[in-house]
Amino acid sequence: MAGRKFFVGGNWKMNGTIESGKKLVETIKSAKLDSNTEVVIAPPAIHLLLVKDALSGVEHVQVSGQNAYHKASGAFTGEVSVTQLQDAGIPWVILGHSERRTVFKETDDQTAEKTKAALDAGLSVIVCVGETLDEREKNESVNVVVRQLNAVADQVKDWTKVVVAYEPVWAIGTGKVATAEQAQEVHAAIRKWASDKLGQSAAESLRIIYGGSVAAKNCKELATQNDIDGFLVGGASLKPEFTEIVNARL
Ligand code: PGA
Repeated sequence: MAGRKFFVGGNWKMNGTIESGKKLVETIKSAKLDSNTEVVIAPPAIHLLLVKDALSGVEHVQVSGQNAYHKASGAFTGEVSVTQLQDAGIPWVILGHSERRTVFKETDDQTAEKTKAALDAGLSVIVCVGETLDEREKNESVNVVVRQLNAVADQVKDWTKVVVAYEPVWAIGTGKVATAEQAQEVHAAIRKWASDKLGQSAAESLRIIYGGSVAAKNCKELATQNDIDGFLVGGASLKPEFTEIVNARL
């Protein structure tokens, strides 16, 4: 771990109601969370301010957008800008999630452009990368994540406010978690990439988190791996077990 603070994100995706969101926040507030873990909750945009307010005063727990548009303002119906997140006091944003890439056809370059804009607006970014099953079967996993990361590195030089989430598409929402070895192998390759591209000290401090069917039952083993610095959790972040994942290293 080399001094990297463990990081657990909860990506609620397009789930829940005002009521269920409040309940989840109550669960988080009443749990005893590892104070060495940074927790970031990403509710749907319409619940962001509510969740942020409900969490105010809770240490180590922040909120995140699930996506944002790179332009500050203008005629972009349906979008929320990085600047608006910043203005609303939302410190984080998830960008390049595989659902944005596959369902909404966002490209590597768009993800990179958004990452740059978010960082310029003062946000911190969880940038997601990961291969499909087809790409894994062709032995392309590392090539794919390196391609996705290179696109970001073309536009972003300072990675201190970036967390990289490795999320193999075949593991997201499928219950098929990558084995600790499979995940560690790609995480180590990402750190090697970072060392070559950004320098050794940037690589050592870069947090690389794993996402894809993380659950209470598999998080502890994954968390023992050298280059796994936390998790991005989807389905299980909607359940009380999320707090067990936050405490994976206890
Ligand atoms: P999952 O989703 O935990 O439900 O697989 C992870 C994610 O998409 O971030």
